[in-house]
Formats: sequence, structure tokens, C-alpha cells
Amino acid sequence: MACLLGMIALVTGASRGIGAAIARHMAGEGATVVVNYRNSEAQARSVVQDIEAAGGTAMVWQADVTKQLEVRTMVEAIRERFGHVDVLVCNAGIVRDGLTSGMSYEDWTEVVDVNLNGAFIVIREVLADMVARRQGNIVCIASVHAEAGGAGHCNYAASKAGLLALTRSLAIEVAPRGIRVNAVSPGLIVTDMTRDIREAAGPELLRQIPMRRFGDPIEVARAVTFLASPEASYITGTTLLVSGGLGL
Ligand code: NDP
Repeated sequence: MACLLGMIALVTGASRGIGAAIARHMAGEGATVVVNYRNSEAQARSVVQDIEAAGGTAMVWQADVTKQLEVRTMVEAIRERFGHVDVLVCNAGIVRDGLTSGMSYEDWTEVVDVNLNGAFIVIREVLADMVARRQGNIVCIASVHAEAGGAGHCNYAASKAGLLALTRSLAIEVAPRGIRVNAVSPGLIVTDMTRDIREAAGPELLRQIPMRRFGDPIEVARAVTFLASPEASYITGTTLLVSGGLGL
């Protein structure tokens, strides 16, 4: 049975990669999906077309998650068209890798801004309605780097560790209001974000992954859908590793 039947889901950064897979999978599980993107309009529209072609309902919306006004306009548009948001997936994320000693302040702040501040901005915008309705579900896409760290990833790891702290704190805060908040920490998933690292590192990278393979975006999407669904009704504040054993 479709586990998200009748729910309205907002997925940030859903034009490509993991976000696109989450949008398609949640739509397949009966959710009406809002496909948010920043730059990749054609790809976002094609995600919506795929969902509609499969008999689902979706809407596309351009908004930079770091821009409070753009996010507010998006959430108002969702409210107008669908009434509310049942499920929020904070997925939008970027990398700007580099060794700490040579990292520009811009590369530090841009990553923290999108990955952490952006999640806060979107969460704050949907939270009041969720609290008023005494129901809602938030899933944040963190990373194995949030806990393990990684050379060349200090900005990214710090942003994702912050996202986990936000997830746990918020989970405690809103649990009495019937809202669940969880995180998924992917390992190395085959998307645009990891193309360079996968190509540059070669076979020794695979040897670091206990399952000896990269993940597929759909494998992350299934975990996110599970956490967002009533199947996970007593789970809040947790982080689910989807990493083939990487980061253990
Ligand atoms: P991609 O680079 O493939 O896609 C990133 C998505 O985020 C795009 O849809 C992009 O939209 C969107 N995005 C970026 N900045 C913004 C912004 N300011 N506002 C709105 N949307 C934005 O990344 P992945 O699919 O690989 O990653 C998705 C999430 O998973 C990220 O949070 C990432 O950190 C996390 N993750 C990924 C891993 C991996 O191995 N791939 C591992 C661990 C975590 P657009 O193109 O339209 O600008």
C-alpha cells in the first residue's frame, strides 16, 4: 500500500541526484510532491513530468533555500495550492572541498549557508503550520562526514554535523506536538556531487566501503520515505546511515 497516500511533501534540491530520487519515490508512494530547485529548471521540470506520467501529482518551484523571502513565497504558494506541508525533506546541499589552511572564507560560509542555514530557513517556514496542525514530519539529509569528518571536507562536515544537532534538538522540541524529525546520512552515492571524487580516487575508494560499491540515489530515497511514513511512527531524532557500511 502507498505509505504516503494523501500527504504533501516538499523536497528541497529535488532537480537532480538524491533529491530527484526522493521526489519520484515519494510520489510513487502516494504523496503530492513539491520539487524545489535553484538553477536546474529543465531537470526539475523533467522530475515533475516523470511523476505526472506515472499518475502522480507534483509542482515545481524555484527558490534558493538561503533566501528567506524566496522560501516564504514558495511555502505560501504551497499553502495556497495544497493547504499545508506534511513532509519536509531538507536535501539541498553543496560541496566546496579544500584543505582547511587554504580554504577561502567564502567557501566556508557558502557551504554552511546552503547545508545548514538553508535547512533552518525552510524548517522555520513550515514549522508553525505543522505545530498548529499537531502533525508533520521532517527528514534532513546529512552525511557520513557529519560524524566521521574527512580531510578536505571541514566546511561540509561542520555543516552536516550542525544539521544533525539541529535534527536532534528540534526532534526533542516538537515531539510533544506530534512532529517527528530525523536524519539520513548517506555514504558515497552516485550523483553529480560525487562525480569528481569517484573518478579521481579509483578502486581504493571502493575498498573503504565495506559493501564495496557506491550507493544509488534510490537506496537513500527508500530510507527517507520510510522515516517520513507512518511505518516509522515511534522514531524521532535518529540518524539512519545509508552508506554500505562506510562511516561505521
Ligand atoms: P547534487 O549536487 O546532485 O544535487 C544537489 C541539489 O541541491 C540540486 O538539486 C541543487 O539544485 C540543489 N541545491 C543546491 N543549492 C541549493 C539552494 N541554495 N537552494 C535550493 N536548492 C539547492 O547532490 P546530491 O544529490 O548528491 O546531494 C543531495 C544531498 O545529499 C546534499 O545535501 C548532499 O550534501 C547529501 N549527500 C550526498 C552524498 C552523495 O554521495 N551524493 C553523500 C552524503 C550526503 P539546482 O541544481 O537546481 O541548483
